[in-house]
Amino acid sequence: MLIGGFLPTTMLDYPGRLACTVFTCGCNMRCPFCQNASLVLPQHFEDPVDPEEVLTRINKRKNILEGVCISGGEPTLQPDLADFIGRIKKLGLPVKLDTNGSSPSAIRSLYKEGLIDMIAMDIKAAPSRYQEVSGCKGIDISPYMESAGYIMNCGIEYEFRTTLVKGLHTSYDMEEIGRWITNAKAYVLQSYKESEGVISVLESGPGHFSSFSDEELDQLLNTARKHIPSASLRYAII
Ligand code: SF4
Repeated sequence: MLIGGFLPTTMLDYPGRLACTVFTCGCNMRCPFCQNASLVLPQHFEDPVDPEEVLTRINKRKNILEGVCISGGEPTLQPDLADFIGRIKKLGLPVKLDTNGSSPSAIRSLYKEGLIDMIAMDIKAAPSRYQEVSGCKGIDISPYMESAGYIMNCGIEYEFRTTLVKGLHTSYDMEEIGRWITNAKAYVLQSYKESEGVISVLESGPGHFSSFSDEELDQLLNTARKHIPSASLRYAII
């Protein structure tokens, strides 16, 4: 496991639970609005955190914690992810996986092995706009479709989420996403906030994107709700 960060306490990353979050290094996407450049761009990686140290810290607090969130980067790129999560599960803690959905086989395998209790999958944009919004030329959308379909039907607790970025997203995305994950049990919209750690800011300076106003966010939410009544707004940065 290549771990780039460890957050010992969070009430935000695992809904309804006092959790800690493990951040893995490396991602197969390059979303220009990504807040985690230091976990995505190898030239910005910081000193890795020893996985054994992380497990020791989780073990010490296992009676306080109510769950562990595995985030990134993209955790499913880690070849020993299942072993690492297995060691957390042996401590008796539920595990939530954050993923961009690029590996339906990894998601399926982790769920079938009983290693994950909740999954949060990013829905980047309308399927036809994935290339632009994910920063990946020639991206094949089919694995993402497969992951979303599996998550909705396998029985796991889940949420889908989209970070809304002014300059990238429009109501068209909400319409198309609504048709894609119609009636999803949980769909969360989050607002982009510019910061120094954003990929586009690091690579070409600030000002490429901005945040929607509250009124604009409400309009986008209402559009999403036409097909996904559970859609909601969360005012937090990922
Ligand atoms: S937002 Fe997620 S999927 Fe996109 S580059 Fe960042 S970590 Fe990867």
